[in-house]
This record gives sequence, structure tokens and C-alpha cells, in this order.
Amino acid sequence: MEATSTQVRQGTIPPVVAARWALWTFVIVNLVIVEVLFLTAGTGKNGVLTVAKFFGLHAAVLMMFQLLLVARLPWLDRRIGMDRLTVWHRWVGFTLLWTLLTHAVLVVLGYARLDDASMTKTFVALAGVPASLFGMLAAAIVAVVAAVSARQVRRRLRYETWHGVHLLLYLALGLAFVHQLQETTTFSSSAPAVIYWWALWLFAFGALVTGRIVMPLWRNAYHRFEVVAVVPESDDVVSVRVTGRHLDRLPARAGQFCIWRFPGHNHWWLANPFSLSAAPDGRTLRLTAKAVGSTSAGLRHVPVGTRAFVEGPYGAFTSLHRTRPGALLIAGGVGITPVRALLEEEPAGDVVVLYRVRSEDDAVLVDEVRTLVAGLGGRLHLLTGRRGEGSPPFEPESLRALVPDITERDVYVCGPPAMTSAVLSALHRLKVPHLQVHAERFGLA
Ligand SMILES: Cc1cc2nc3c(=O)[nH]c(=O)nc-3n(C[C@H](O)[C@H](O)[C@H](O)COP(=O)(O)OP(=O)(O)OC[C@H]3O[C@@H](n4cnc5c(N)ncnc54)[C@H](O)[C@@H]3O)c2cc1C
Repeated sequence: MEATSTQVRQGTIPPVVAARWALWTFVIVNLVIVEVLFLTAGTGKNGVLTVAKFFGLHAAVLMMFQLLLVARLPWLDRRIGMDRLTVWHRWVGFTLLWTLLTHAVLVVLGYARLDDASMTKTFVALAGVPASLFGMLAAAIVAVVAAVSARQVRRRLRYETWHGVHLLLYLALGLAFVHQLQETTTFSSSAPAVIYWWALWLFAFGALVTGRIVMPLWRNAYHRFEVVAVVPESDDVVSVRVTGRHLDRLPARAGQFCIWRFPGHNHWWLANPFSLSAAPDGRTLRLTAKAVGSTSAGLRHVPVGTRAFVEGPYGAFTSLHRTRPGALLIAGGVGITPVRALLEEEPAGDVVVLYRVRSEDDAVLVDEVRTLVAGLGGRLHLLTGRRGEGSPPFEPESLRALVPDITERDVYVCGPPAMTSAVLSALHRLKVPHLQVHAERFGLA
């Protein structure tokens, strides 16, 4: 297990900055290599096809970068956080779509010019060539996934439906890979180019397979997670405690979350993210879930002894990013779960907790939070009320009134996406330095 007590880093590069630099360096170095290979490999059959080739190569590079962003590599995940990596993945995805479409249109245009034929006739002719057809199918799948990922459409879809469609991207990736093997000239132009291109693909695929398949399977086989207690906290909130072998070797920190499956109880494809609601103690992990849909509502009926399949831990909402001695922890509703865990790592003295709930009865784990805050000599403000009622608690003036030295503290925020955005905007207006602000939104997609 990693060190669990909160330590303030001084004079070192913040982990998130180090990770961003590492990613940027990786991207820039590879882009430089790709440009050099492109420029030295010779041109296409005409000018348009040369530009098409340029876009095709960059689409391939974007695909590999996408794999890296979703590989859930612990080093990146702990420093940047899955939510931010997912946002980048989304933007790279849309960039990939436009790059692919530009490549496809230019290929058709280039061959139409070469053969002095219409674009439609050329398109049909290209669709008859397997290598081109694979590329077209890959582009079509990316376009469909992008369409269902547009905010207006995504909001109307069930998570499982959207996720199922999203998984088609792996098919697109396979098709695009075969398309490249058959069509690419830049990376078959020399032995070093071939080696480089294969190495890059192997690295990207290797990262994905390691992070998404090998590590979770290995961890579950090693730890053999099992439910040891199910504790109703209220009518619609339940805590589930899970144990396992050698849990002291699981690199989990307070503030992180796992993706949980209870295969003997639920369908194996139902996997839900829940934060650790207590700091990992090397013997058990605890989640606390509010019932919003069938899986979370069904957790109170999970029998003790059920095997759990746990992916993670993930997330950068931890004390690894601590920069100041004082902390302000802001939670909305069930967003208290990682905050409650973080409190166990807080040093005594300078902690303030703002806990926003509709009414005191809705305050999940409030007794535990009270006891922890009192033990630390900190302050807890229970901010009751509904949205739109009374004065909004997360306006800059209200926050400053409650915590006058807010800019001197690390601020951890966790809650529903809308509340988290409101608090982040207020912190921005209050000029709380960027590196002191840490957020977890209870919504990844
Ligand atoms: C990082 C993170 C940590 C979380 N921690 C907690 C916690 O500690 N306690 C708690 O009560 N809730 C937590 N949530 C929210 C919780 O994951 C959802 O409420 C839960 O998954 C709902 O599932 P359901 O099947 O009961 O409801 P559904 O009706 O199926 O889902 C309701 C909504 O939950 C979201 N959701 C469902 N499944 C997933 C998934 N696999 N991945 C991402 N989002 C999904 C979707 O936006 C969906 O529209 C967390 C969410 C995230 C992203």
C-alpha cells in the first residue's frame, strides 16, 4: 500500500503537471517522427492524394493516442484522473472523426481526378476494393459513435446502450488497422519506418490490453474480492463492504473509486463506478451507493459472500495532489463518499467541510463525517436546501463568507456534475489557484 497520510509537496513538480508534460512530450516526439517519415517517403499519385495520405497518417496517430487515453494506465490515471482523460478522449475522438472524413473525401477526390471520373463512380469503385472498403467501414463506425456521443443524443440514451455502441470502436480499430497494412506506403518505405510503426501500434494496443484486461483480471484473481457486509444507511442508501486476500497490496488511496461488478447477483456486463467511502485499511474496501437506478437500488439485496469483480482503483481525487496545509472539502449529496474517505487522511487542524444536502435527513454518512471532523478539530457546515431555494451556497460571495481564507487552501469538490461545475466556476472567479482545485464528478461519460 502507498503512504496514506496527507503530505504537502514543496518545491517539486506537481504530479498532474509532470503527467501532462510526459503526455505532451510523447505526442510531440511521435508527431515529429511521423512528419519526417511522411516528408521522406515520397508523394502520392497526385497532389490531392498526397494530402489525403497526410490526413490518413494523422488519423492513425490519433487512434493510437485514443487507445492510450482510455487504457487506464495507473500512472496517468492517478495524476490526471479518469474524468479529465475521458474529456480529452472525447475531444480527440471528434478530431479523429473530422480527420478521417477529410482523408476519405480527399481519397475519393484524388482518384476521381486521376481517372477523370465522377466522385460517385469513384466512390463505388473504391468500395469494391477490400482495403478501401475496410477504411470506409471504419470511418462509418466512428461517425455513428460520434453521433451517439453528441451531448443531445447521449443524454437520451441509457448508459449501457451508449456504451454498447461505443464498443463498436474496437471493430473500427481492427478494420482501420487492416486498411493501413494494405494501403500505407509511408510506413513501408524503409525498414526503420516499418519497425517504428509496428512498435507504436504494439505500444498502444499493449497499453490498452494491459490496463483494461490484464491488470483487472490479475488483480481479481489475486485478491478474490468478496462481499462481507451490506449495511443500509437509509431508505435509499446502502454501504457494501468487500474484503479480499492481501488487500494491503492493492494500491488504493482515499478519494479513489472502483468500477464494481457483482456477477453472482447482477448481469456480468453491469459495471458501475462507486467511490471508496472509507480510506482503504488493507483489510476491506467500502462503497456507499445512493439508489438511482436498478443496479444501485439492488445493492442492498446483494448477499454476503457474493464474489465481486473490482476494476481499479482509479482517480486523481487524492492527497497526492495536495499543495497546501489547509483543506476545504465540498460535497454535494452522495458526493460525500470520497470526501468522507479523504477525512481519514487529513492531518489535525485546518479542515473545513461544506456538505450540501436537501435536508439533514438526506445527509449520507453525516454522523461519521461529524465524528471525523470533530476529531480533527475542523469545521463542518451542513448546507441544507433545494436548488433555487434561498441564497445559493456556492456563489463566490457565499463561499468567501464561509471560508475567508479559501484561496490559501486546497479545495476538493465532489458531487453531481451540475453542482461540481457551479463550484468550480465560483472557485475560478475567486481566483483560487488552479493547482489547488481538485474535483471528481459523479458522471464519466
Ligand atoms: C467516478 C464516479 C464515482 C461515483 N461514486 C459514487 C458513489 O460513491 N456513490 C454513489 O451513490 N454514486 C456514485 N457514482 C454514481 C454512480 O456510478 C451511478 O449513480 C450508478 O452507476 C447508477 O447506476 P444504476 O444502474 O443504478 O442507474 P442507471 O439508471 O443505470 O444509471 C443512472 C446514470 O448513472 C450513470 N452510470 C450508470 N452506469 C455507469 C457506468 N458504468 N459508468 C459511468 N456512469 C454510469 C449514467 O450517467 C446513468 O445515466 C459515481 C460515479 C462516478 C463516475
